[in-house]
Amino acid sequence: MGHPHFVVQHHLATADHYDFRLEIDGVLVSWAVPKGPSLDPHDHRLALRTDDHAMEHASFEGRLGDRRNGGVVQVWDRGTYRNTSHVGARPVDASTALQRGRLSFWLEGEKLRGGFSLIRTRDYGRRESWLLTKKADEAAGAGVRPTGTRIESVLSGRTIEQIDAEGS
Ligand code: MN
Repeated sequence: MGHPHFVVQHHLATADHYDFRLEIDGVLVSWAVPKGPSLDPHDHRLALRTDDHAMEHASFEGRLGDRRNGGVVQVWDRGTYRNTSHVGARPVDASTALQRGRLSFWLEGEKLRGGFSLIRTRDYGRRESWLLTKKADEAAGAGVRPTGTRIESVLSGRTIEQIDAEGS
């Protein structure tokens, strides 16, 4: 068994956002991150929990219906991760950490690398609100926001505009 996977899909729909997905117990547990992930530890990115997705969705890139009903999806980053969640001094598995609303993990992607946390700040109403934050480690960088500088797909090299124009 290798490490579990993660994927970040840039999704141009009614609103532009990034879908951040972690493989936990065989599904892609998902959050919509309007501003996308950042490597600056001072950026606390709002992450709205969305529906779990099947693992196959991790490699989906293309157009989903029209802009309003689906939009365009780009595989912006992917790789593996290591769960580093704790409760006090005790390591806990990712599904326990998810239930408790405090996940820590180390990403090994092409664009995102290093320690991150996802902390639930609100769990009532239609959607859980979480905050995605880079930890201050050697992979962090002040002002480093690869969503603005590395806009190509890690799957096809295309920009999201090229995927939209080509349709699949
Ligand atoms: Mn989405």
